[in-house]
Amino acid sequence: MEIIRAENLRHVYKTSAGEKVALDGVNFSINEGEFIAIIGINGSGKSTLAKHFNALLMPSDGKIFVAGLDTSDKKNLWRVRENVGMVFQNPDNEIVAAVVEDDVAFGCENLGIEPDEIQRRVNFALDIVNMSAYKKFSPSKLSGGQKQRIAIAGVLAMQTKIIVFDEATAMLDPAGRREILDTVQRLHAQGLTIIYITHFMEETAVADKIFLMEDGKILKIGTPRQIFSDVKEIKRLGLDVPVAVELAERLRRRGLKFPKNILTDEEFINACLNV
Ligand code: ADP
Ligand code: MG
Repeated sequence: MEIIRAENLRHVYKTSAGEKVALDGVNFSINEGEFIAIIGINGSGKSTLAKHFNALLMPSDGKIFVAGLDTSDKKNLWRVRENVGMVFQNPDNEIVAAVVEDDVAFGCENLGIEPDEIQRRVNFALDIVNMSAYKKFSPSKLSGGQKQRIAIAGVLAMQTKIIVFDEATAMLDPAGRREILDTVQRLHAQGLTIIYITHFMEETAVADKIFLMEDGKILKIGTPRQIFSDVKEIKRLGLDVPVAVELAERLRRRGLKFPKNILTDEEFINACLNV
């Protein structure tokens, strides 16, 4: 079932230097429970698109519907935000309280939910992100990956159906990135709709679909295998491909009979053992 639809969505920033078209007529439909990764070089419009999912920005033209709600209708603002949680790049900007459990409860308190119900939701959310043991900790004592998991728990406690991650792993070390990607996969398995913006191409292999952005447009929508099958195009756009894709392509060019469509390290290893 469709949960988000964009129709000729445009966004123009007006600045003293003039107008900047950041989204230039974007169309797509996302089904409930899908895991969508969004890739594209800096400035291609990913964050601008992210901010349209929960009405942080309004369309300059065209429309976006979230859970059937037109985000440009001011009456819908709070219902849109009840449906969409956001996790941003810098976990330090997202921590608002001095104790982990209070931080996770913050969003719920703003929604005016009963204290008993908040407590239940906080415990549940901390459990999902594997942070229950840190309930009474100060967030300042946590690693970057742990802080991001607290931020995710805060969103989960609000019980939104959709979570948008805007480069949520960009400031983390490899272990922290792994923790977040594992958490995101778990949420996806539970039926949440995931919008995952990243510049780590490896992370996109687990998505159902990738939106490939260039210059305010969605150039292509496809499965990770489809998107990374055209290595030349991805590189022309200034992006990398996953390491396994790169190595398989280079070995193929050197004459090895490697199967097409290798995406993950595991597939690459298996292919090596079979040539
Ligand atoms: P990405 O997240 O893919 O790096 P953005 O959505 O942040 O891209 O930016 C898309 C384009 O819009 C860029 O050219 C950027 O400079 C411009 N832009 C982003 N935010 C603003 C803003 N607040 N005011 C003016 N221009 C902006
Ligand atoms: Mg961005």
